[in-house]
Amino acid sequence: MHIYGPVPSRRLGYSLGVDILPFKTCSLDCIYCQLGTTERKKVQRNKYFDVDAILGQIKILIVSGQHIDYITFSGSGEPTLNVYIGKLIREIKKTTQIPVAVLTNSTLLSQKSVRNALSDADLVVPSLDAATQEIFDRMNRPHSSLKIRQVIEGLKIFRQEFSGKIWLEILLVKGVNDSPAHIKKLKKAISKINPDKIQLNTVVRPPAEKAALPLSPQELEKIREFFGKKAEVVAEFNKIQHGPISHDIKDAILAIVARRPVTLADISTSLGKHKNELIKYCDILLKEGKIKLIIHEGKKFYELI
Ligand code: SF4
Repeated sequence: MHIYGPVPSRRLGYSLGVDILPFKTCSLDCIYCQLGTTERKKVQRNKYFDVDAILGQIKILIVSGQHIDYITFSGSGEPTLNVYIGKLIREIKKTTQIPVAVLTNSTLLSQKSVRNALSDADLVVPSLDAATQEIFDRMNRPHSSLKIRQVIEGLKIFRQEFSGKIWLEILLVKGVNDSPAHIKKLKKAISKINPDKIQLNTVVRPPAEKAALPLSPQELEKIREFFGKKAEVVAEFNKIQHGPISHDIKDAILAIVARRPVTLADISTSLGKHKNELIKYCDILLKEGKIKLIIHEGKKFYELI
């Protein structure tokens, strides 16, 4: 299954997620990644999955009449690693007026073919957590060929070429990329990129590394002020949910977890739903104190409390 949702999200309203990659196909291995560790980092773009099969699933959802605010490419890694992303965006735009958004880690935007592929999207949400190679290496643990200087340059050129909206997301981790000196360098890089919005986030879901700690709302607010009027805090502190949730899905997850500790992949297989949709429900259950997360032999398991 390549689509999930529509899932209510604070930033994009009802977002129909489109996942065009095998699980965790990424050029980075961010310390805060909620999907776990990237086993083999990739920068080579590939022909993953059949375009018509993906489009067929999207069309079925569109004609079903469900409310959808955005069709969003995100999912199991870095969506621009799929060479078909441009074709998919163009085909979706021929079918519907629902705006198309792409969440990207920005690492391939220095390639003209990738910038061209995203040119028909309505909104691109690229991320940038580091302004120096040292912090890029610590925070995002990139593929060995990636240089932050080129990533920032790629973002700058993309801004000049792209006519849609760009909301630049910065995820802040305590003690890693939040020092005043680094924040100053980030601000300088952002001023060159000139996004429409700067969205500040922090670690609110169980991350890949336990040491990835969140900033407090007050600390984020201070940085928001420093970045100026385009900046906003999008971290969802203590908020259980921002829209209707399916109590059936919550109950079904609880029933599975009650039997034995399970991974997200186990829950996904049992319920026939996409991991990216289920992770939001697991997150709610964690916040409600109904389940807990344990690490066993490097894998994350959900267990009943
Ligand atoms: S870019 Fe996204 S998917 Fe890739 S490692 Fe970072 S958080 Fe995970």
